[in-house]
Amino acid sequence: MKVTEHIEKSNGRTQFSFEILPPLKGQHIQSIFDNIDPLMEFKPPFIDVTYHREEYVYKDVGNGLLKKQVVKKRPGTVGICAAIQNKYDVDAIPHILCGGFTKEDTENFLVDLDFLDIDNVMALRGDAVKSETYFRPEKEGHTYASELVDQIENLNHGKFLDDELQNTSCTNFCIGVAAYPEKHMEAPSLESDIHFLKKKIKKGATYIVTQMFFDNKKYFDFVEKCRKEGITVPIIPGLKPIATKKQLNLIPHRFHVDLPEALIIEVVKCKDNKQVRQVGIEWCVEQSKELQKAGIPVLHYYSMGKSNNIKAIAKEIF
Ligand code: FAD
Repeated sequence: MKVTEHIEKSNGRTQFSFEILPPLKGQHIQSIFDNIDPLMEFKPPFIDVTYHREEYVYKDVGNGLLKKQVVKKRPGTVGICAAIQNKYDVDAIPHILCGGFTKEDTENFLVDLDFLDIDNVMALRGDAVKSETYFRPEKEGHTYASELVDQIENLNHGKFLDDELQNTSCTNFCIGVAAYPEKHMEAPSLESDIHFLKKKIKKGATYIVTQMFFDNKKYFDFVEKCRKEGITVPIIPGLKPIATKKQLNLIPHRFHVDLPEALIIEVVKCKDNKQVRQVGIEWCVEQSKELQKAGIPVLHYYSMGKSNNIKAIAKEIF
């Protein structure tokens, strides 16, 4: 079922959902199930599975020479989605990127998803590969997520890349896109970022999931600005509980979001990461309670492959 239908059917009740990462290559799919199992009692209508593009690894081949190798450390997004839908009565949402995909690759990926009865896709640009500063699209690929949304929407109307194909069947994907209450790192202003967010909606996206934030005011202000700009689709908040002291630096660096001073003070006071984990849970519970009270249809948690703290939060909220 589509995310938008799940929201319509919930009759104003806030629902629980979460995101998982494919395991590192070499690990078994059971590690995914071990993370999902403890969270199923909270009846998530959907689970997101991230997509991880290739990385460049330089191997020393002697004589001062390095050989560039392309590696995918976390493959398996489509297979994991199929396995989740097969094992649990829940929609699995694969993330799909512009980065690393030609339009042809994208089309073939979407055909697989359609055959697997996957109803939703999260359309993203992706970041630059780790060794590069700026995002570079594939030669025959997309530069922005709005172009990817356009291609998916074309397929929803039976329009394939090869316009000689006849009697094509239409896909029926519900398309989600990303948004950033604290602005995407490359956007010159929040206004500019919202302008391009609106473009993704105009092209056919029907719901939004936000980057993590730790101060609900940033989310509420962002939603208000979006509504003023005429964006009417659901804006699902993304939440992540802090779990280690290191994340005080890592999260702002990696995700370009601020941490509230009160949270920083509490984390700094902790003697070990067990205490940090507890602070992170309590902070996230408070955020969740306020969002739930405001009637937000879905709270979406970034599990990052660990379900214990998400379970502790969900127990308090759902
Ligand atoms: P876009 O919407 O294309 O925007 C990128 C930047 O370009 C923004 O600054 C925007 O303002 C600007 N822009 C957009 N259109 C135009 C235009 N026409 N002209 C000029 N500027 C423009 N990454 C992964 O690799 N795998 C994942 O699974 C993944 N999942 C994510 C899930 C969520 C909920 C979120 C919030 C992010 C996720 N990301 C993931 C990270 C995401 O790929 C990066 O943040 C990426 O840098 C931007 O992706 P986007 O889809 O928001 O890009």
